[in-house]
Amino acid sequence: MIGCNCEVCTSGDKKDNRLRSSILVQSATTTLVVDAGPDFRYQMLRNKVKYLDAVIFTHPHKDHMAGLDDVKAYNFLHKKPMNIYADSLTEEALRRDFYYAFTDTKYPGIPELNLNTITLEPFLVGDIPITPVLVWHLKMPVLGFRFGKFTYITDANKIDDTEKDKIRGSEVLALNALRKTKHISHFTLDEAIGIVEELRIPVAYFTHISHQLGQHALVESELPDGMHLAYDGLELEFK
Ligand SMILES: [Zn+2]
Ligand SMILES: [Zn+2]
Repeated sequence: MIGCNCEVCTSGDKKDNRLRSSILVQSATTTLVVDAGPDFRYQMLRNKVKYLDAVIFTHPHKDHMAGLDDVKAYNFLHKKPMNIYADSLTEEALRRDFYYAFTDTKYPGIPELNLNTITLEPFLVGDIPITPVLVWHLKMPVLGFRFGKFTYITDANKIDDTEKDKIRGSEVLALNALRKTKHISHFTLDEAIGIVEELRIPVAYFTHISHQLGQHALVESELPDGMHLAYDGLELEFK
């Protein structure tokens, strides 16, 4: 947190040093990221991501989409527009916030985007099958995504029963857990633990963590078996 001197913000443990929430999903032939927040450029630099096929958006909040402009580096590298996947609500925000990428008069240096509107229907990016999962962020619909054995959900504080069925059977769930005290639009740590237990997911990683949650090592040691705090640079492999 800018300007904060709390024990998390001043911690020497790298796992306490977090950028905005995002994941990169990679198969043998396809690489995509979920969300492109303000840290997107640095995340791509830090992880030396040289090829990117697509950006998939969860919802139109700035901490998840503000970095989209920087896909222009991939336009330059791959000599083609970037494939963007967003539902109609997020598409509307993208067209508003990045209006200059959607005008008829193109000029050099603006991102080239190939916008695909998604719904709750499963879709395919390259060879990666994706099933959207609708979750609620107070009153805003947000998309989680299931990639085979792995489901990624961020910015939720409520999940309808019908959508929970789409998550059941996942081997690993990444789920948002902001802090221990109640929040209007994010699951607390206890609420997130409750969802993992209810859906009987064997392994869970909590993400979209606030500095208010406490130090990584301390909170990690308090979690039930199979549950962990996610951290920047965490990699998971699925066979
Ligand atoms: Zn949000
Ligand atoms: Zn967020």
